[in-house]
Amino acid sequence: MNIIRPKILYPLFSDLTTVNGVGPKTAKLIEKKIGKNLIDLLFHLPHSVIRRLNNLQLKNCPSQSIITKCVKVKKHIPGYYQSRKPYIIFGECEGFDVEIIFFHFRSEYLKDKFPELTEVMVSGKIEWKKDKVQITHPDYLVNINDKDKIPKFETVYPLTSGITNKIIRKSIESSLNKIPNNFPEWIPKKLIDEKKWLSFKKSLEFIHVPQNEKEMKLRNLCFERLGFDEVYANQLGLSLYRKKNQTKKLKNKKKEYFFFTSILKKLDFQLTNAQVKCINEIEDDISKKSQMKRLLQGDVGSGKTLVALSAILNLIEINKQAVLMAPTDLLCFQHFEFISKYTSHLKIKVSLLTSKIKQVDKKKILKDILDGNSQIIIGTHSLISDSVKFYNLGIAVIDEQHKFGVNQRNKILSKGENIHLLLLTATPIPRSLTMTNYGDLDLSIINETPKNRQSIITKVIPLERYNEVITAIKRALKRNEKVYWICPLLEMSEKLDMVALVKRYEQLHKEFREYSPVMAHGKMAKEERENSINSFFTNKSKILVASTVIEVGIDIPDATIIIIENSERFGLAQLHQLRGRVGRGSLQSYCILMYNKTISEIGKSRLHTIRNSNDGFYIAEKDLDLRGPGEIFGSKQSGEENFRLFTLKDFELLETAKKLSENNSLNSKVPYSQQILMSIFNNDEYIQNLN
Ligand code: ADP
Ligand code: MG
Repeated sequence: MNIIRPKILYPLFSDLTTVNGVGPKTAKLIEKKIGKNLIDLLFHLPHSVIRRLNNLQLKNCPSQSIITKCVKVKKHIPGYYQSRKPYIIFGECEGFDVEIIFFHFRSEYLKDKFPELTEVMVSGKIEWKKDKVQITHPDYLVNINDKDKIPKFETVYPLTSGITNKIIRKSIESSLNKIPNNFPEWIPKKLIDEKKWLSFKKSLEFIHVPQNEKEMKLRNLCFERLGFDEVYANQLGLSLYRKKNQTKKLKNKKKEYFFFTSILKKLDFQLTNAQVKCINEIEDDISKKSQMKRLLQGDVGSGKTLVALSAILNLIEINKQAVLMAPTDLLCFQHFEFISKYTSHLKIKVSLLTSKIKQVDKKKILKDILDGNSQIIIGTHSLISDSVKFYNLGIAVIDEQHKFGVNQRNKILSKGENIHLLLLTATPIPRSLTMTNYGDLDLSIINETPKNRQSIITKVIPLERYNEVITAIKRALKRNEKVYWICPLLEMSEKLDMVALVKRYEQLHKEFREYSPVMAHGKMAKEERENSINSFFTNKSKILVASTVIEVGIDIPDATIIIIENSERFGLAQLHQLRGRVGRGSLQSYCILMYNKTISEIGKSRLHTIRNSNDGFYIAEKDLDLRGPGEIFGSKQSGEENFRLFTLKDFELLETAKKLSENNSLNSKVPYSQQILMSIFNNDEYIQNLN
């Protein structure tokens, strides 16, 4: 998309090579880690500040402290460039001998630049050797006349190889000069006054190049302001987007829906109140809005499928088609079985489209979809393919939505006009994340699990008690129940993890040969993996040794034990998801969290959080606190908003930003200052979307 950016921003969105002192080579290095425009550099924030200005007398400065002092050069003691003997500039400061030491250094240069009997300014870490002070490879060494070249407050940046802190600092300093002085203020004056915030430019200046203690003190406010800017841009964008969808309200009369009502009669249980509430919210959308965009959140086992089915049937009843997309073949198959079973009396054709379907059958299915013979189509990513064309698609339901990217979502929506969208997620999403990442969607929450569920008993056990675990498994297997055994398989330690997983599998295989354990992990060929899961599903195998590939959605009610080895290495939200694989039937289920000796106290207390709570939302909030947003979803997802300056813990700021954004009226133009703000944070696609 071609982004129309306000002119005033051009300098900030120009190439890094426009920065003084940055050549193509450095630009490449910076680009790789930080970004390709000046603005990226400006948003690359320092993690700390070295105070070089140290007013203490030398005698009061301990070893390892950083000093900046004037030293009188007395003598040069040459070393050898390629030997271990260092080059030493010997001098005096406040009555103490000082040695400024260089290893592997070309000596002529030093001797010329800092001649004997002149004064130099040196800054670096000191080490006392009896009454003598040593500074090895000082951070700065300049002639006394150049002493202002040593920063009093030196900001320190997360680095990338090949670039020094000095280069980053210098490039940022010259980038700062490119921020126009006549930037309009986008934050309402009242809020600025209340928070005592400084301008955008000043805030960046104080953060990157603080000049004195007063500016140092104000830096926290500056960070806060920039964080607010970022989340305000995010919220402005989302609210524009939402309002756009809301403007096209239909004046449909609410009608009775018979299909779903007839299904309710077939259930041998009652819907929970939360399910009913969500079903009503969806019904409302469908009868009133030209396009629903809704996220349905509900913990594992809370009964989202039925809620989704209500939406699907409501559309079928007004002669539309529906798709249900899910991330794995098995999940699709389970949905297919479930929906076929409950809709059998309705004369509805339900089709399943996954990679498993034979080519001949596929042709027929595609034709049925195109002709409108198939009304409910369930499938994996295959549904997105261009060969799938609909007769009149009315609704798309996406299960385990975090497994799909925004593009895939959009692709499905492009297969018709004003298609209602319902996203399902079993990962409880903390409130702040919902507001920042899904603020363009309406929200329904199932915060209640069906009453007939037995709660899962969770135990936290050290690995040494392996034998007890084996005994417990034996008992369960005798009762004809099934067991998951989960080992971590993390990207950063993949090889070692793989070895451990295979080893565990082999050991369990020896121990439980008659129960035919099988193995499933992400590094296996897809087919092989699915075969394993399938034999577990169909009872050929009673033990499934797996990595987290089984995390999403699998519903195998007679699996009653899940062992999670090295559980300290998983995120809390992920552990909660894994635990949700058991306790799905009427039998008492167990989750055993095994940990290694090396676990920290914090690690243990995290596991106790899981043991003591079964509330996915509570656990997700904890996880967000402890490990950040990436962990909530297990892996990075494409749609996930990535904040550079705002921290999600600032919930109050987020709420303020949301409130302010809602004040904007859709009918008036987006104010110039807000356009700039959104453009700075690359949220301007929202503005364009309005046209
Ligand atoms: P999830 O929210 O994890 O997708 P499902 O929709 O798969 O959960 O439901 C899990 C199981 O609970 C299914 O077997 C479903 O039939 C059953 N179920 C759904 N709603 C209820 C309810 N209100 N009472 C009892 N069981 C229910
Ligand atoms: Mg589900």
